[in-house]
Order: sequence, then C-alpha cells, then structure tokens
Amino acid sequence: MNAKRPLIAVLTGAGISTDSGIPDYRGPQGLWQKDPSAQELVTIGPYREDPEIRRRAWRMRLETGALAAEPNAGHRALVDLERSGLPLRVLTQNVDGLHQAAGLSGRKVLELHGTAREVQCLRCRVVGSMADVLARVEAGEPDPACRECGGILKPRTVMFGENLDPEVLGQADSIARACDVFVAVGTSLQVFPVAALPYNAVKTGARLIILNAEPTPYDEAADEVIREPISEALPELVRRLVTERA
Ligand code: ZN
Repeated sequence: MNAKRPLIAVLTGAGISTDSGIPDYRGPQGLWQKDPSAQELVTIGPYREDPEIRRRAWRMRLETGALAAEPNAGHRALVDLERSGLPLRVLTQNVDGLHQAAGLSGRKVLELHGTAREVQCLRCRVVGSMADVLARVEAGEPDPACRECGGILKPRTVMFGENLDPEVLGQADSIARACDVFVAVGTSLQVFPVAALPYNAVKTGARLIILNAEPTPYDEAADEVIREPISEALPELVRRLVTERA
C-alpha cells in the first residue's frame, strides 16, 4: 500500500492506434524499417533544408489520410474511465489526436510528441490547422508557406532531431510520480525520456500495469502484464479498475 492520492495515469503509444489503421512507424513492421528514406520526411534537418522533402512529406500526409482515422474501442475505453469519475490523466506518444476524437477531455491529455492535427510556422511560431494546410496542398500548393510571414510550416509534432517540450515532459513526470496506478498501453517503453515515466512511477510506489503485444524492459517490474489485443483488453481492464475503486 502507498500513501498516494488516487490518480490513474495511462501512457499510450502506437499500439493503441493500430486498430484505427494508423501504422506503428517505428515498430518491426513499421514504415521506417521498410523504407528508411521515409524517415527524412520527419527529421527536422532535411525537412527544414530541402523543399523537395517537404513536398513529399505533405503529399504523404495527404495520401495516407491520417486525419480520417477513427478512434477504436481502446480509445473509447479511456473515455469510459474518465466518465467513471476516477481521477485520470492520459500521457500519449501518439500525434493522431484520437483520444480527443473519441471524446476524452483535452485537459486530461498530454501529447508528449505534439499533434499532427496542427501545424506551426518555424519562423513566427503561429499555429494553424493541418486540415487547412492539406486542403492547400490538394488545391495545388506543394509546400504551403505560413500565411502570416511566409515561413516554413511543419506539423506540430516532435520530429527526429527535435527534443520533447521540457514543460510537457515535466508535467508528465509529475503525473507519473503522483499517480498510484500507472498503465502503459501499446508502447515498447524503449525510447527515453518517455521510458523513464514508468520507472519513476514505480519508484514512488505506483502499481504498474503493462498492456503490450511485445515484451518491454519493464515487464519484470510490473504488477501485471497483459498481452491480449488492446481493443479487447483495455475495455476489460477499465471495467476492473472502475469496479475495484467503486
Ligand atoms: Zn510564420
């Protein structure tokens, strides 16, 4: 037992969105493995320097139709968890916005890697909508520039070669240290600094539950490891958490 106040922290990774048709780019079957040149499209140096890379990147976003993806039962389970009234924070490595699309309150979600639903100007930092920019691409602008200053636009995601926002990471760390249950869903827990979150949760006395298809470095430290498909196992786990705390 620990003296922590009740707070459930749920860390989500690519695995929760694969049932929505969004590939796990970094995974063993991921795009980066199959086509390493695709990684340039999301690496800040080449993206900033090379207009051709940007044209390919916008075209890829348009063609993969990532904005059209729909939330699945895993995302909806976390909405049920919020509606149960239990204190909840969701920390996500995903940039797809599907937690909010499912109905989770935006203030409950911390997007560690930013969001692909928005763009930001590299010069004046103004934020805009990805849907608007993709509409401009479709209408014939191969590399739409910032309408405020003419600067380069990029998705408001953390690209390779960029650091996570220290403020967001600090908030995530505080949540990990404050929670009494930490659930890691669909994440390999291999990439730092995000991989430090479950470590700090356990160190400060939280119960750790891991729901992931593949083994993670934290399986030994976990109180429970679940290998079932996320869209089935997460609704089940949520029902259990709600029942045990009722
Ligand atoms: Zn600008």
